Amino acid sequence: MEHKGLLQSDDLYKYILETNVYPHEPEPLKEIRALTASHQKFFMGSSPDGGQMVEMLLKLIDAKKTLEIGVFTGYSLLLTALTIPEDGKIVAIDINREFYEIGRPTIQKAGIEHKIEFIESDAIRALNKLLEDPNNKGSFDYVFVDADKINYLNYHEKVINLVKVNGIIVYDNTLWYGTVAKSEDSVPEVFKEVRNSILKFNKALVDDTRVKIVTAPLGDGITICRRLY
Ligand code: SAM
Ligand code: CA
Repeated sequence: MEHKGLLQSDDLYKYILETNVYPHEPEPLKEIRALTASHQKFFMGSSPDGGQMVEMLLKLIDAKKTLEIGVFTGYSLLLTALTIPEDGKIVAIDINREFYEIGRPTIQKAGIEHKIEFIESDAIRALNKLLEDPNNKGSFDYVFVDADKINYLNYHEKVINLVKVNGIIVYDNTLWYGTVAKSEDSVPEVFKEVRNSILKFNKALVDDTRVKIVTAPLGDGITICRRLY
């Protein structure tokens, strides 16, 4: 479990990042990455290669109204805010505002804070509140889910009603350090609970007729879902 990425080859991952990802990564995102690298929970930060895919998706679907669950220091939040148009919006939920405050000066400097509505809350509570407003139902172009993994199925049942038909939901870490393909016995204790939840979640998504999915082995695995009806 030493290697964070899925390729299990530091050299290959380094090659991809240095050749294809870092040259086009905006400066403010590099800054957030640098800030996060010295944080005790640095491993929670999003992978820039997954981010590059998200940027492409946001542009392709011309996303304007977006939602994020799990902000941490703000890499994926800033990426989304930089990519959506000037009048775009991102509702960002995290249970811990302190993490967000670490990246906030960078976000302010980047001139995109007006697009962000940060909600400090447990995600289920915040999602229930969003769903109380009929204007929110089926209205989001894009949702990024990256908070507590054991709740992914619960989040799915909420966000499927918030995203519009043909809108996109991206789930991060759906290959959980590659443990989904390992036997339970061989997986270190610390990975087991989430691994088992992710296994159930991945299976449930495949069986869910409301979405069409693709799993990309970028970062720690991202699953892209398009709402069909
Ligand atoms: N997307 C972030 C990025 O780009 O760096 C990484 C998110 S990090 C993996 C997960 C975040 O989820 C943490 O900031 C944590 O505070 C938040 N979180 C954990 N449980 C939560 C919950 N029940 N509701 C809302 N946020 C939660
Ligand atoms: Ca993540």
